[in-house]
Amino acid sequence: MDYVVSARKWRPKTFEEIVGQEHISKTIKNAIVNNRIAHAYLFAGPRGVGKTTTARILAKALNCQNNINGEPCNKCESCKAFNESQSIDIIEIDGASNRRIEEIRTLRENVKYAPTTGSYKIFIIDEVHMLTTESFNALLKTLEEPPEHAIFIFATTDVHKVPLTIISRCQRFDFRRIELDAIKNQLVKIAESDGVKIDDQALTFIAKKADGALRDAQSLFDQVISFGGKEIDSTVVAKMLNLIDDEVYFNISDAVLNKDFLEAFEISKLIYDNGWNYIDFIMGLTEHFRNILTVILKQDTSFVEATKQIKKMYLEYIDTFKEPDLLRIITYLNKTERELKISQNQKLLMEIALSHLIGMESTTTITELVKNIQEGNFPEYVEKKNEKINSSRQMHKKRSEQTFSEEKTEAKTETHDSVSNIDSNLSKDEIPLIKAIINELGGKEIR
Ligand SMILES: [Zn+2]
Repeated sequence: MDYVVSARKWRPKTFEEIVGQEHISKTIKNAIVNNRIAHAYLFAGPRGVGKTTTARILAKALNCQNNINGEPCNKCESCKAFNESQSIDIIEIDGASNRRIEEIRTLRENVKYAPTTGSYKIFIIDEVHMLTTESFNALLKTLEEPPEHAIFIFATTDVHKVPLTIISRCQRFDFRRIELDAIKNQLVKIAESDGVKIDDQALTFIAKKADGALRDAQSLFDQVISFGGKEIDSTVVAKMLNLIDDEVYFNISDAVLNKDFLEAFEISKLIYDNGWNYIDFIMGLTEHFRNILTVILKQDTSFVEATKQIKKMYLEYIDTFKEPDLLRIITYLNKTERELKISQNQKLLMEIALSHLIGMESTTTITELVKNIQEGNFPEYVEKKNEKINSSRQMHKKRSEQTFSEEKTEAKTETHDSVSNIDSNLSKDEIPLIKAIINELGGKEIR
């Protein structure tokens, strides 16, 4: 069987080849060149971003006989032995299956023996946070007084589970999730080398689904190839990954702006019919509103990870939502995500959540309120705000003229209703304050 999965076939053999962690490989290479070697390293970060790979390259480089500028040569006896999984000086331990004290005791015995071919005896412990408290204590003793030749490299996805006493004895490196474009570039390389034709949108789908983990992206890529062959387009990928259509998220934000309640039920049905995961959906929706927020704050799409076409759609939101409203929406969606995880009826909860989102009143800040009262144009202000939201979103969804004008008249005639609307947006502490301000300014008495 000569088929090798992409993640293995493309596993980097030098620091230079590591994708998206340049800040770490550069520091480590310099340390090797300058012979400033620590006895213990801690590699922390999400899964699939290159922690174990970097640990292996570092171990190889430390024992390499013709190390070039901090890089392992991959040709000498030591490098070759490691690449063929036959090194006796570089020992890889899986923390999850060797977590007990007995195994750590064996390791401590092993540490005492000098290396055979290389300069160091190197222990790579993956998923080190899985060790028991007893094991950590035993390990700590070795770390306090390590033999000259011993080097430890720990890797973990859960650094907060590693005792501080261990962390403080290590040189710590925090690995980042890999950026969308870096993942896409790597996939393009793989596709070219394998003679696979794949479009940009399809690559974006895969890279987004992998959520910063290159290894996941490579596995998804393999899956897509075995499903769709050598010519892949985005529809195949969307179908295979059962991806949530981005447009649905835009439909929701439009519905929020247009107070289109029916959309809540239509979208909830769509999620159900497509078999999309409700939690994934709400996470995607949170990201969508986060994207809108960044577009409004930055007035461009530099913080949005998406295709050009989608970025263009985001730009249309520049003059729509107010920042405090978006923050409230994002907070509300976070809360909903937690509730969905324990809900017995996710479909119903989603309908309620979406209706609530669409029904949310816009925030009025105290400064705005005071300014408008001072200028005596409070009711018109509400009207103006509605007009602004509506006119800027008209290109997306036509809102019934009737409802719009009805609302206008309401805003003009019923001052009390508008005031209580604002009340409902304020916290308990703010209401007495606002009443005091209004009284101070000689405004209308509020109930
Ligand atoms: Zn070598």
